[in-house]
Amino acid sequence: MKPPSLLLEHNMNDHTMLATLTCPNLACQHQQPMLMPSTYCQLSYTCEACQATFFRRPGDCCIFCSYADKPCPPKQAEDRCDPDVRHR
Ligand SMILES: [Zn+2]
Repeated sequence: MKPPSLLLEHNMNDHTMLATLTCPNLACQHQQPMLMPSTYCQLSYTCEACQATFFRRPGDCCIFCSYADKPCPPKQAEDRCDPDVRHR
């Protein structure tokens, strides 16, 4: 009996839940991998390097749309994101 493949399990999900946030602090710019929540908007995060807390940019729905290398899961799925509507 073969052990279940972790890769296969990950491929079952079309949307990548792991994003890399880049600290908007120009003196820091620390890259921080973070798992994206699919059930709610994450509006702020604290950089683990410089300990500064950042909030989403105006017009963006969450910190991932503002600072990460990929948009948040709802945006990946529907290609749109309403900043005033909470993710379901
Ligand atoms: Zn930082």
